[in-house]
Amino acid sequence: MKFIKSFILVTFSFFCMITPAFASVPGVDKSMGRGATKGIVSVSHPLAAEAGIKILKQGGNAVDAAAAIQLSLNVVEPMMSGIGGGGFIMIYNKKENKITMIDSREMAPQNVTPELFLDEKGKPIPFSKRHTSGKAVAVPGTLMGVETALEKYGTLDISQVIDPAIKQAEKGVKVNWITAQYIDENVKKLQNNQAAANVFVPNGQPLKEGDTLVQPDLAKTLKLIKKQGSEVFYSGQIGKALTKEVQKREGTMTTEDLENYVVKEREPIRSEYRGYELAGAASPSSGSLTVQQILELMEGFDVQKMGANSPEYLHYLTEAMHLAFADRAAYMADEDFYDVPTKGLLDEDYIKERRKLINPNRSTADVKEGDPWKYEGTEPTSMEKVKEEKTPIGQTTHFSVMDKWGNMVAYTTTIEQVFGSGIMVPDYGFMLNNEMTDFDATPGGVNQVEPRKRPRSSMSPTFVLKDGQPFMAIGSPGGATIISSVSETIMNVIDHHMSIQEAILMPRIYSASYPTVRWEPGIEQNTRLELMAKGHVYEEQPQHIGNVQAVIFDYEHGKMYGGADNTRQGTVLGVDRISYKSKPIEIREEKKGPFTLKVNGAVYPYTANQMKIINGKPYIQSDKLLLGLGVIGTADLKTYKPDKKSYLPVIKVAKSLGYKVEWDEKDKVVLLEKDKTDVEDPDDDGTITN
Ligand code: GLU
Repeated sequence: MKFIKSFILVTFSFFCMITPAFASVPGVDKSMGRGATKGIVSVSHPLAAEAGIKILKQGGNAVDAAAAIQLSLNVVEPMMSGIGGGGFIMIYNKKENKITMIDSREMAPQNVTPELFLDEKGKPIPFSKRHTSGKAVAVPGTLMGVETALEKYGTLDISQVIDPAIKQAEKGVKVNWITAQYIDENVKKLQNNQAAANVFVPNGQPLKEGDTLVQPDLAKTLKLIKKQGSEVFYSGQIGKALTKEVQKREGTMTTEDLENYVVKEREPIRSEYRGYELAGAASPSSGSLTVQQILELMEGFDVQKMGANSPEYLHYLTEAMHLAFADRAAYMADEDFYDVPTKGLLDEDYIKERRKLINPNRSTADVKEGDPWKYEGTEPTSMEKVKEEKTPIGQTTHFSVMDKWGNMVAYTTTIEQVFGSGIMVPDYGFMLNNEMTDFDATPGGVNQVEPRKRPRSSMSPTFVLKDGQPFMAIGSPGGATIISSVSETIMNVIDHHMSIQEAILMPRIYSASYPTVRWEPGIEQNTRLELMAKGHVYEEQPQHIGNVQAVIFDYEHGKMYGGADNTRQGTVLGVDRISYKSKPIEIREEKKGPFTLKVNGAVYPYTANQMKIINGKPYIQSDKLLLGLGVIGTADLKTYKPDKKSYLPVIKVAKSLGYKVEWDEKDKVVLLEKDKTDVEDPDDDGTITN
């Protein structure tokens, strides 16, 4: 049985009306019962959630549980993360009241140059080709990251948390609807590698929902790790097999590269938002810094009064995103190579200067990076700005954990694209990342390929604290869209006072640059029309954005709550009390109308029943047409009322508003043009991915 997201939201909001959704602590979700007291996990897959809960029940802490969840995810969600990838583990250690970041991001091998992804003519090799080559594979960090986190902040070692994963790989797990969907979408990529095809597309048949996924090679690998720890990977037989496979496919990674891999412990990025403290992943991630810039920009507006997903709120939010993403492109990459002006980018006066650039009435076409160095107090890094390339958005995993002692983990983990490079290490059963393609393909910028450098990430595992007390752990996958998913969900809780589950289900938008906006089902048509009249271009069809998993601590009553996204089988489990599994959703396509209206190249979102062709001429329902063209009040025009609704002649109205109009009667397209100067780059779909 499938539902649409907005339907769930309506039902959910109704439920929340009966049971007040928030107490004085925002985000608290009374609809989930009285809240857990002994620990909680929120994970994108129920079996990985169970692996985590098992460890918490046995007395492990949040870091122990997170390690078990990651190892299990490698088995039950093998297309998203695993020991062939990397990630950022944010840890809040209650005893020391310390927040730290374990950076297990993949590293470039030694033998690479900034021209790695250029062809003989000096042009970037197309993404579809370069992300499946051995060159795309960076030195994995996940296993060493998990081991380091356990050693420094856990109470168990890897051999004590790996059993659920071994069992799942050996006995097999039922393929759920989302894994089946991802296998189906990636059959070709998987069939380029015999080992991967044998596991996911046995005998040429992609595994379907309900089939059993058994992974004996992966079970063997996990057993080796149980006995020998990460050494068997970084300087043993697994590493040898890994580099052999990468080299077979044009990669240069050697066993020395694996031996030289280092996990780094870093200071998180911190700032405040409306009296809450934020702490998130630092460089080489651009994620939390960009999230915090967006939130600081929004702090200058009365977000609460604007209302969740109102046209006004979405306008300011989109503009704030454009400003922050412009800075991201210019200044953020691996700080071990180039200084990032973190202090300047979050400086109150710098933010004020940037905020002033937002025009309340119009989307701004020419958003450029600012000059944060003025506020940084150090010399700028002299690298050019490289135009960002559009590449497909990745989909990996975020999960959040809290234990009974108040320790928290927010862990975003990745192999980059779904199934990473598509390369499986033969006989060892795990997928290899394509994280090298998170570097710019074009040399010259701060994020160019360099030996032993970490590619820029967008992953934004984040903690929110109140008066030094843990309050929320949150994050999402989704490449650059992670940044909008995390910022929007935090505002949904803090400003819009939603319960965490409601905040996660709220439809989201994403826009990295003018003018295109990606949107989820549930952003209302009137809202989109009003925003299009301001110059934003909403994509023709909605798409899912991200997959947020969060936990909330009601610091007034000592209770834990959680929220999980429904674009996968998101699951919240408490050691006591809470058990929630999200339901699958479906995007319904709108029926096409009798003609198309394009304004300055953008297709306007009118539904079939709002459009008519009368005597060979296009008409649109009056209120909708005027909303989309930004006309306030009713124009003095004769309307046509065939069925109680009033319609206006598009051509006449547009002409009266000064548009140049073309009506292609054969193909049924009305073209309106005005303000051409506002359209900076009509081919730019505003998508940035890593
Ligand atoms: N490779 C992406 C990044 O590091 C993550 C992909 C994803 O989580 O969806 O930003």
